[in-house]
Amino acid sequence: MKEHKQIKDWGLGLTGPTIIAGPCSAESPEQIEQICIEMKENNVIPSMFRAGIWKPRTRPGSFEGIGEEGLKWMEIVRHHLNIPITVEVGNAAHAEIALRNNVDVVWVGARTTVNPFAVQEIADALKGTDIPVMVKNPMNPDLDLWMGALERFHAVGLTKLAAIHRGFSDAYDKRYRNKPNWSMPMHLKRVWTGMEVINDPSHIVGKRDGILEISQKAMNFGLDGLMIETHHDPDNAWSDAKQQVTPARLKEILSAIDFKKPVESEQPSERLNDLRRAVDHLDDQLLDILQERFAVIDQIGSHKREHHLSVFQSDRWKDVMESRTQKGVAKNLSEKFMKELLYCIHEESVKRQEKQLREADSVKK
Ligand code: PEP
Ligand code: MN
Repeated sequence: MKEHKQIKDWGLGLTGPTIIAGPCSAESPEQIEQICIEMKENNVIPSMFRAGIWKPRTRPGSFEGIGEEGLKWMEIVRHHLNIPITVEVGNAAHAEIALRNNVDVVWVGARTTVNPFAVQEIADALKGTDIPVMVKNPMNPDLDLWMGALERFHAVGLTKLAAIHRGFSDAYDKRYRNKPNWSMPMHLKRVWTGMEVINDPSHIVGKRDGILEISQKAMNFGLDGLMIETHHDPDNAWSDAKQQVTPARLKEILSAIDFKKPVESEQPSERLNDLRRAVDHLDDQLLDILQERFAVIDQIGSHKREHHLSVFQSDRWKDVMESRTQKGVAKNLSEKFMKELLYCIHEESVKRQEKQLREADSVKK
């Protein structure tokens, strides 16, 4: 079990949900100041202020970030809003400069998370400090890469960790700039207990419309905060102009969201306890049935072995798949769920029977 410190224990006085807002890129001291003033005027003070100082651009020629100078402007944010500052670091030099300029929290971007060399270099540069690190999901939906980056920071002693879900690039699905693939952040939370995941609807949607919808979805699923790109003049922003919102719109979005509480934050009610007991009981029954099913599968395996039949029988598989899917759909289970469930059960059955064949063979040899 990898122990890590949750956001409330980062020593920054943060209590959930964590709202991170600020421009895609720091552009000028005037820009930073105007955003802060409008946040104050609209009474929308985020938990942390974000600003891109070094911008990983897909193609050269667009604005690549203002560099270290922009970090000096973060004093303006401290003066107006007195909230922690977070910036993206993409290599060891960025990390060292961020530390030198008292950045409170760093994050690793999607293009960096895919590169273990870069992640390790940043981890080594931050080693010996206790700066909190947030890791965005990699560009491609690979949970191990996401986990691996978090583990590299953990391994050098950085325990103040969180993840950011910014979606995954998909050449075919044009509904989003980056497809959300909600099962990935859920799965990260399953495999790393207590890991908080902040949703970044701006980079998922890629335009202003739809940010509220994705944010609400993230809160419904139980993600732990939001990172929303905010600019006083989005249309004229030097990067990601289409997706940034004004502080006034940020206020509207945050006011419209129905923030959900984790069940654990309250004493569970008797009703919820009863329902959970019912689920526990049904899961026990499900396991008994699976055990019985695989016992029969093993008998079929012995029969196939005795009669020199191969394990995978296409026609039978087709029948099983189609008939069970139909029955499942009639019981209000989705077709996708039925197919995934049947693939999973069938794969296990085939593996067990193949193992039986192999073991029988090795006895003969
Ligand atoms: C950003 O946050 O501005 C950014 C570059 O994000 P990502 O790494 O998610 O593309
Ligand atoms: Mn951006």
